[in-house]
Amino acid sequence: MQNTEKNSVYKNIQDAISHAGKKMGLSDVTINNITNPYNIIDESVMVPEIGKEINMYRVQFNNALGPYKGGIRFHPEVNLDEVKTLAITMMLKCSLVGIPLGGAKGGATLNPRDYNEHQIEGVARAWARTMAPYIGVDKDIPAPDVNTNGQIMSYILDEYEKTVGRSEPGVITGKPLDLGGSKGRMQATSQGGIYAMLKILEYNPDLAGDKRVIIQGFGNVGSYAATILVDEGFTVIGISDSHGAIYSQNGIDVKMVSEKKSQERISLHDMFGGDDSVEKISNKELLIHDCDILIPAALDNQITKDNAKDIKAKLIVELANNPTSKEADAILKERNIILIPDFLANAGGVTVSYFEWVQNRQQFYWSAKEVDDKLHTIIVQATHAVHTLSQKENLTLREAGFRIAVERVGKAAALRGHN
Ligand code: NAD
Repeated sequence: MQNTEKNSVYKNIQDAISHAGKKMGLSDVTINNITNPYNIIDESVMVPEIGKEINMYRVQFNNALGPYKGGIRFHPEVNLDEVKTLAITMMLKCSLVGIPLGGAKGGATLNPRDYNEHQIEGVARAWARTMAPYIGVDKDIPAPDVNTNGQIMSYILDEYEKTVGRSEPGVITGKPLDLGGSKGRMQATSQGGIYAMLKILEYNPDLAGDKRVIIQGFGNVGSYAATILVDEGFTVIGISDSHGAIYSQNGIDVKMVSEKKSQERISLHDMFGGDDSVEKISNKELLIHDCDILIPAALDNQITKDNAKDIKAKLIVELANNPTSKEADAILKERNIILIPDFLANAGGVTVSYFEWVQNRQQFYWSAKEVDDKLHTIIVQATHAVHTLSQKENLTLREAGFRIAVERVGKAAALRGHN
């Protein structure tokens, strides 16, 4: 059943866009324009370093608002449907926060754990050679996503520049600082999500309760979110990784866990194996454990119709992409649980990617404070707009976000004469 819910995510987003578009009077042609991808690159590519062909994708969903933008995922489950789903979400995300970029996503179907560093470099370079005719600083700007990072972006930049024969640092974002990356990019997604969350709490202070937070996933996004939340005076009482979850009423020392996780590959259950003050539970149990705020920061399709009725949190902040199924969304709405949707909650990542692109283009770099101030302004404005519309029209934050995002990109598409 969970798979059916997962497979229909793309269709659900298309339907939600059509619904919002019709409500605001967009023509059928415009709705068609913003619900279907402009270009799909789907190739089986020989990677000499591993001696076999790998499926590689780029979905350029829509560039009405500006060049295509979106990450590259290396994962065994990457397929065209997933890349399209992530690409349509990128279109909505850029549109909602008002940055002049379109939506795209890319990937390669492989399990990086099966290969060594040299082979992964080969995959990255093959991806760059395959996509070189389609990407570019004014065309399409990739970035990291699940299982890709600054080093992989560096290989892609290098291979792309060799292929096209010129320097073009703004062709890719999420680069290391030494290669033109932006200050603040590492924690941007989490920081943006916390800014959105704090703004919503300003409007609904009761939702904060005792400020007890559970975070699913302790990778890049989850670990930074945990650290920022502790600095903001919240208590992180539960966290998880792919092996299981830990829970402690008194709070978890997330800074220590973060540091340990960055030094060695160790599961949370192993890390706290001999510590009886910390409960070892399953990921399933963690999601429905008592807390005030729940932050999914791992995978898609985690809050489903099977567990939505048991969620105890009063506020959910979707740092992961598509963690809530449509059926679960309806149950949460019915239960008056407030949910900050992914395309607002995790838009901080693409926002600072946009700043990186701007800095690369002007060859002038900003301080960490400048980046953070600009991120704060953009996320708070978007959150305010979404909240205001939700109050005015009696919509959930997701429904209001859809309306704003669809209106902006729909107007741009219509102005271009697509209708
Ligand atoms: P990551 O690979 O660094 O971390 C993922 C974490 O989830 C790891 O701790 C992993 O152990 C854990 N995990 C995996 N399976 C799990 C399971 N079944 N239960 C609980 N935990 C599990 O990835 P990330 O960059 O932190 O991304 C996390 C989510 O945020 C993804 O949905 C991604 O698309 C989304 N996102 C990331 C960014 C970004 O800037 N990195 C931006 C926007 C959205």
